[in-house]
Amino acid sequence: MENQPMDQLGNPKVTIGIIQKYNFVFQKKYGQNFLIDAHVLDKILAAAEVSREDAVLEIGPGIGTMTQRLAEMAGSVTAVEIDADLIPILQETLQAYSNIEIIRADILDLDLCALAKRIGGGRRIKVIANLPYYITTPIIMRLFEDHVPIDSITVMVQKEVAERMQVGPGTKDYGALSLAVQYYSEPYIVANVPPNCFIPRPKVGSAVIRLTRREGPAVTVKDEALMFRLIRASFNQRRKTLQNGLSNAATLPYTKAQIAEAIAAVGLPETVRGETLTLEQFAALADYFSALDGANENPVVDRI
Ligand code: SAM
Repeated sequence: MENQPMDQLGNPKVTIGIIQKYNFVFQKKYGQNFLIDAHVLDKILAAAEVSREDAVLEIGPGIGTMTQRLAEMAGSVTAVEIDADLIPILQETLQAYSNIEIIRADILDLDLCALAKRIGGGRRIKVIANLPYYITTPIIMRLFEDHVPIDSITVMVQKEVAERMQVGPGTKDYGALSLAVQYYSEPYIVANVPPNCFIPRPKVGSAVIRLTRREGPAVTVKDEALMFRLIRASFNQRRKTLQNGLSNAATLPYTKAQIAEAIAAVGLPETVRGETLTLEQFAALADYFSALDGANENPVVDRI
């Protein structure tokens, strides 16, 4: 079989054959659920709009199911896989392609900006992944907050997490992840994917979501980091009013009176909860506090 062209992956028979040949043992800690449904692969690839112009970063290639297809469509594919036991498998399943680079690493340990700049060669890259659930939020936040030069992120994630990224204020799933994703990108749920599309079957449903990076952020705010501190503090204590949530937060230096004034100044009721605020309202609140910080940093001595 060594020098024969590899059968195309993405169906149960070939996937099971590979797993048996290598006595591969699934690692639960790495969230290993391999895709075995060609229609789902087609949907991911269509949503990602991959062309020969693109440099693609694939996170967690597994046995190379999506990687094979990506290699046929993209200019280049860089696949980062944490599990050393998968590397010899990838070397076999991807041997027919010369435009693939396999990196054995934990994606969270890499300098993603440097990697994206190297593989993109001046162009924004596309990120594609069937993400293990435990790294979904950290990796998406890292890609956005570190300003990695990306064009889009098309990922399979837990269904509830996809919904959280897309919803607006006042719904139970709305939270810090929704606001961060919507600040940097336009989310669009491409497809729901049931557990029987994977080996082994996950316990929960999955969804494919495409996050298209905005040219500029969705709102203008003077201090982005402060806005996200306010957002996190508001949702850390969802059941509390915004005023209590912000005054209990160790990451914010403001007094209860200053917080009350800020809430009133941006036109919100005293008892408002953080989960009802839009991105624009969080930005207005952050700008109010930035002005306050500025005033405190440069006290007008003459007034005393
Ligand atoms: N892309 C393959 C597919 O669709 O069949 C595999 C998807 S499986 C849900 C997740 C993959 O990510 C596994 O191959 C796993 O070993 C890998 N992985 C898990 N944590 C990782 C990390 N921190 N860095 C890189 N790869 C990781």
